[in-house]
Amino acid sequence: METPNAPTSINHRILEGLTRVATAMRIDEWDRAKATGLNPTQLAILDLLEGRAGGLGVKDIAVHLGVSQPTATDSVGALERKGLLAKKAVEGDRRAVRVVVTAEGLSVLSSGSQGAGLAERAVDALDPVRQQHLLTTLVAMIRHLQEIDAIPIQRMCVGCRHFAPYAHSDAAQPHHCNLVDAAFGQRDLRVDCREHETADPQSRAATWDRFLQGSDQPLQANQG
Ligand code: SF4
Repeated sequence: METPNAPTSINHRILEGLTRVATAMRIDEWDRAKATGLNPTQLAILDLLEGRAGGLGVKDIAVHLGVSQPTATDSVGALERKGLLAKKAVEGDRRAVRVVVTAEGLSVLSSGSQGAGLAERAVDALDPVRQQHLLTTLVAMIRHLQEIDAIPIQRMCVGCRHFAPYAHSDAAQPHHCNLVDAAFGQRDLRVDCREHETADPQSRAATWDRFLQGSDQPLQANQG
């Protein structure tokens, strides 16, 4: 039994904490799904495809959501029958098919947005410094998972070929996005950027090293 003098490992307690947050997020997902008349997997597919103009194959959808391919196939079929998704051929590959979200799908997604859910309110309640620490911690965890091939490459700044970490001496805006040629702050790091272009593994590792070296500096929480 855990006592104040004999706590379980910090790793164990962090996982316990993440489980509680995941519970709140699951409640939010069910609420959103109910509002749209879909189930959470169908809603997650629409969320995933929104902002991906080129769409994704069913196999990639399954990998991104961590569900089996038959589950993804069934859900895509149900969404297609509702007119919320469409399949399109891939140019130059007659056998490949991509799934894209339709205008009706986008409209269903926006109908499920009914203000901040439980998890979002918990994030809102954090002060800016804690939000920034949480964001960089999540980025580090997600990056670890993607680099051990547990999850697909995510569209994060730290894996993007346009990202130049700590390119500026300005502590509030130390990073640079070479795509838009603009400086940005630690709290503006993207987790799912539509313009992301994945860097090669060697560049990703070098960028991450530079990012970690710079992060040894005290974190500057700007309010931006
Ligand atoms: S393109 Fe997007 S992911 Fe890449 S560095 Fe710029 S903001 Fe970050």
